[in-house]
Amino acid sequence: MSEGHTNDDVGACMQLDPLEADAAGRPAFTRAPIGLLAELTYRCPLQCPYCSNPVDMRRGDAELTTAEWQDVMRQAGALGVLQVHLSGGEPTVRQDLEQILESAVAAGLYTNLITSGVTLTRERLTGLAERGLDHVQLSIQDAAPANAERISGYRDGALKKRGVARWVRELSLPLTINAVIHRQNIDNLPAIIDYAVEVGAGRLEVAHTQYYAWALVNRAALIPTREQFLRSVEITNAAKERLKGILVFDVVAHDHYAVRPKPCMGGWGRNLLDITPSGKVLPCHACEAIPGLQIDSVREKPLADIWFNGEAFQKFRGTEWMKEPCRSCDRREIDWGDAVARRSR
Ligand code: SF4
Repeated sequence: MSEGHTNDDVGACMQLDPLEADAAGRPAFTRAPIGLLAELTYRCPLQCPYCSNPVDMRRGDAELTTAEWQDVMRQAGALGVLQVHLSGGEPTVRQDLEQILESAVAAGLYTNLITSGVTLTRERLTGLAERGLDHVQLSIQDAAPANAERISGYRDGALKKRGVARWVRELSLPLTINAVIHRQNIDNLPAIIDYAVEVGAGRLEVAHTQYYAWALVNRAALIPTREQFLRSVEITNAAKERLKGILVFDVVAHDHYAVRPKPCMGGWGRNLLDITPSGKVLPCHACEAIPGLQIDSVREKPLADIWFNGEAFQKFRGTEWMKEPCRSCDRREIDWGDAVARRSR
């Protein structure tokens, strides 16, 4: 579930000893990534209008094989990655998900399955739990079934998702509900919050739509009014207070209405990396839209080499690349220049 991932799931970071500067005079980057977003496939039975799958998906970019993903998991563990988000598209359409999960668990990674749920069975979820799956993030399109099914283009999905949420809790797995918020569901936010409580989630991601990929194409139907957005902030803040100790909220701010730019990916090449179904390693899952960015693949280079030295990762890492006004701004190590600034470089 591509849009299910947020950039705010990162906690403490790992800082290694400083090394020498690189050829361009930049201090060598020595910090291990915290999280890996493993986009196992772009395939998905749903058709969400805000999907972050590429709009110009190319045929012929073959998905990584089972053995290649297993090697990625081993490399990620050796690199110091702490958590892997098994995502997509819909990751459960990969019949080798179990083998990939086993490799991630063996590599010592905390494993999070990001799923729309509609292709899962209880038997399969039980098998994943038995193999060591640590967490499930289930996406919903709305709490109102008819609207959820209209948005996703998938009949009976809402009922199925409730069942999956129940199985997750019966298996004692922690559950996050991810709800991408936009004009077609923002007025139902109170019901979405109630839904998360009803199904026993410990966390709710109120993820205001990020306007790239399909969301950019469909933005005319998705962008809420400013008044709707401000009302959603009030509702979320009140619910945070009311549900303290019951439900944790992660909020992805709305790019158009946020007062400040968000620190995209928690800072470029700083905490997270994303591997596409065909093995491209990205500092941000929308970065292929940046013209001329040199992107490496795990099919050609070791993951650690790409993380520390890859051109795409180095390009906007740290603060040296910034121009004014970002360069002298006292928030430069808080929002890290944001992607909007990068696109203008
Ligand atoms: S569930 Fe929706 S957003 Fe996620 S991959 Fe499928 S179509 Fe895209």
